[in-house]
Amino acid sequence: MEIDRARKSLLQSLPSVEETLQSAPFQEIDAFVPRAELVSALRASLEEARNKILVSPLSQLGPLPRSKKDWIPHLHQEVKRKVSPSLIPLINATGVIIHTNLGRSLLAQEALEALQRIASHYSNLEFHLEEGKRGSRYVHVEDLLCRLTGAEAATVVNNNAGAVLLALNTLARGGEVIVSRGELVEIGGSFRMPDVMAQSGARLVEVGTTNKTHPRDYEEAIGPDTALLLKVHTSNFRILGFTQSVPLGQLVELGRRHGIPVMEDLGSGCLVDLRMWGLEAEPTVQESLRAGADVVTFSGDKLLGGPQAGLILGRRRFIEGIRQNPLNRALRIDKLTLAALEATLRLYWDPFRVIRRIPTLRMLTTGPEELRRRALRAARGLRKKAPTSLIIRVLEDRSKVGGGALPLLELPTWVLSLRLEEMEVSRLDRELRSSSPPVIGRIHKDELRLDLRTVSQRETPLLIQTVASACRRLLDSSSQADPPSSEAEGGRP
Ligand SMILES: *Cc1c(COP(=O)(O)O)cnc(C)c1O
Repeated sequence: MEIDRARKSLLQSLPSVEETLQSAPFQEIDAFVPRAELVSALRASLEEARNKILVSPLSQLGPLPRSKKDWIPHLHQEVKRKVSPSLIPLINATGVIIHTNLGRSLLAQEALEALQRIASHYSNLEFHLEEGKRGSRYVHVEDLLCRLTGAEAATVVNNNAGAVLLALNTLARGGEVIVSRGELVEIGGSFRMPDVMAQSGARLVEVGTTNKTHPRDYEEAIGPDTALLLKVHTSNFRILGFTQSVPLGQLVELGRRHGIPVMEDLGSGCLVDLRMWGLEAEPTVQESLRAGADVVTFSGDKLLGGPQAGLILGRRRFIEGIRQNPLNRALRIDKLTLAALEATLRLYWDPFRVIRRIPTLRMLTTGPEELRRRALRAARGLRKKAPTSLIIRVLEDRSKVGGGALPLLELPTWVLSLRLEEMEVSRLDRELRSSSPPVIGRIHKDELRLDLRTVSQRETPLLIQTVASACRRLLDSSSQADPPSSEAEGGRP
């Protein structure tokens, strides 16, 4: 009985479509969005509110608005979200640099400019200017890639999963590919090496055990149908302890003896030696080619720090076969990606400058002292703006590289640790995720940690502003909901 009355009074507090549209906040959206869209979004939001009131447990009805006037800002937020673009920028305060769900690498300024230039003008994408006839889109990066890495030839496709599929389909369709059990990786749930191999029309021959593979395991598996020896860089995990894998050089030697090509899927594909910056060694593309790999594949948007792309480097005859494969057309790189990729690669001419120009490499090599200074400065800014019940601490922590690169490497960092007195940390996390721009941190026990490694200095004032506003909204809504249902009671006759 009591339950029904509380729900009924809440339902009665909902404003009508007309009333809502007349309110000041809605008059302001109206200018940008067609009225039909606005009305349909508002109807949907009112319907959702009604359903929530009808089905939520009583304990969760507390934070809902109680009067028509209070509903308006709530509905305004909801409707604005519905009529706004879906793909939006956000602040990545997770400290994970190559975060696949948050868009992996940010582009360098030079790449952004190239992208804009090529997007807004016609270009010589596939046009040979000297000869005045059709050209190839691949010339724009092939020379550059070869000179940077020492490869004989190079080509590019849409992403590295496509690169692996295309290379296997070209080199090993109908034949067998020998790969170590310890390297049959799954990346982000959607890319499983065995599945990609099956799609390529090659038969997988697994050798060795999960933790150990010896040269003789490959040797014994070689038969008349063997088309390729494959090495996969186990980029998002490591098997530790009692392990053995066959180095690429030995695989190449074996391949040569039997006349079988060798391919390496490097995953993140780094072009600079990270040891120069005191980081753990990630095998470089140059090393793989020097060791004699016939084909090497890697991603454009992992450690390379460019746009999403799949790069394929190696011996000319294999690269030519790959280009002529009809699948290549289906996996074709688009002109915007190509423009951004060329501009990114050009930065690699200067291995010292590249670290500062490419955001992924810059974030990777930012030292803990610098991060501590940034965290302290942000904490000072936040203390001035946020409510006093926000407890702010600056703590030492570790950031992850992510994106299937350097899996064990944790970079020393300093974070802002946030906690609102007497409030679940999950509420702060949720409020920040639904802020504009959304802020993504990471929950550690009962606090929210913000790692400034992945927040640009230009973004920091916005981050502070957004966190402060989110805290204020949370405090407002919890003080409203404080006396659990007395307001609803009071409103009734
Ligand atoms: C990331 C990765 C892939 C897939 O690359 P995408 O560019 O995401 O398609 C394939 N192989 C390895 C080893 C990887 O790390």
